[in-house]
Amino acid sequence: MSVSRRTRKITIGRRSLGGDAPIVVQSMCATKTRDIDATVAQVHQLAAAGAGVVRIAVDHEKEAAALEEIRRQTNGIELSVDLQENYRVAAAVAPWVDKIRYNPGHLHHIERGKTIADKVAWLADVARDNDCAIRIGVNCGSVAPEFLERHPNDQLEAIVQSALYHCALMERLDFDRFVVSLKDSDPEKVVAANSRFAAARPDVPLHLGVTEAGMPPEGIIKTRLAFERLLARGIGDTIRVSLTLPNERKHEEVEVGHKIIEDVTQARFISVPNFGQGLNIISCPSCSRVENERFVELAQHVKEITSYAAAHRITIAVMGCRVNGPGETDDADLGLWCGPLTVNLKKKDVKVGSYSYTDVLPKLREELDRLISERSVR
Ligand code: SF4
Repeated sequence: MSVSRRTRKITIGRRSLGGDAPIVVQSMCATKTRDIDATVAQVHQLAAAGAGVVRIAVDHEKEAAALEEIRRQTNGIELSVDLQENYRVAAAVAPWVDKIRYNPGHLHHIERGKTIADKVAWLADVARDNDCAIRIGVNCGSVAPEFLERHPNDQLEAIVQSALYHCALMERLDFDRFVVSLKDSDPEKVVAANSRFAAARPDVPLHLGVTEAGMPPEGIIKTRLAFERLLARGIGDTIRVSLTLPNERKHEEVEVGHKIIEDVTQARFISVPNFGQGLNIISCPSCSRVENERFVELAQHVKEITSYAAAHRITIAVMGCRVNGPGETDDADLGLWCGPLTVNLKKKDVKVGSYSYTDVLPKLREELDRLISERSVR
């Protein structure tokens, strides 16, 4: 099965992306960026598995210094950097990478006196001066406030319109080396958002991802449910599979990505008719920002101790850090996000408390039992 894609082709380092170029599988390091040896090893691990671009998270200038050395030891591998709330770090990291990802939903956090258009113009200049491509990475968990206000009852339209606005800003700046991603943890929303965007801008290369898909095998099923439907329609030029895995197994994300592409090319699709009807555990793939190395183990324990509730339609979110944890757990029935020594437990957007990595498990179970009994008496 061969589906033609109509996007324009751009370059990321020596790699082509979009148009008739092969779909690029990406991944992201989960090591501490300042741990140069571990990060270099993971970049090689992911590239050896077939990652065409490897992303690294950088929040501070100090991490930017580590990036210079990481670049030196990974020459020949395309690197991308993920900016979170501090978009100004771009100037320090751009010389050492091939692509910068910014999130339109995070640009308002600093320099509130400047317009979003001015900030994007600055980012485009930094990218141009350093021969970098850009990813406009919008996410349902962190939608730009002005778009949420404009579309209060339609979060999908808010992220699609936010992405379209940023494409227009780029083009006004005469910068066309960009790709767009529209991510969510719900595969249905990923399909809907990317379909809407591709209908409006069939020329713009798309990076597909289901965020916080969780642990295998459920995380792979969720990702497939979205990617198969989009790729089969020619939507998607690069993909990232986000799975909660220990560092030594991180390359499995890349292997799964290649397998999905191969299966779609050969018209082999999965069928999971009742998937998504019961307990849904979403967990982040972890990255440099993860607050405690016990995060992956915590996510696994959450899965084990909640298995008795498999038939209940309840979502539990497990996030690795304070950057995305508080926001991305708001919509879950029960949410856990990690601090360095404690785990914060929430019921929807209300905090239940902070507990040690061991004590949080029985507390979660207590809250889950309460939720199940509350629902059964309704
Ligand atoms: S939630 Fe935090 S640790 Fe997890 S992937 Fe996102 S930024 Fe990284």
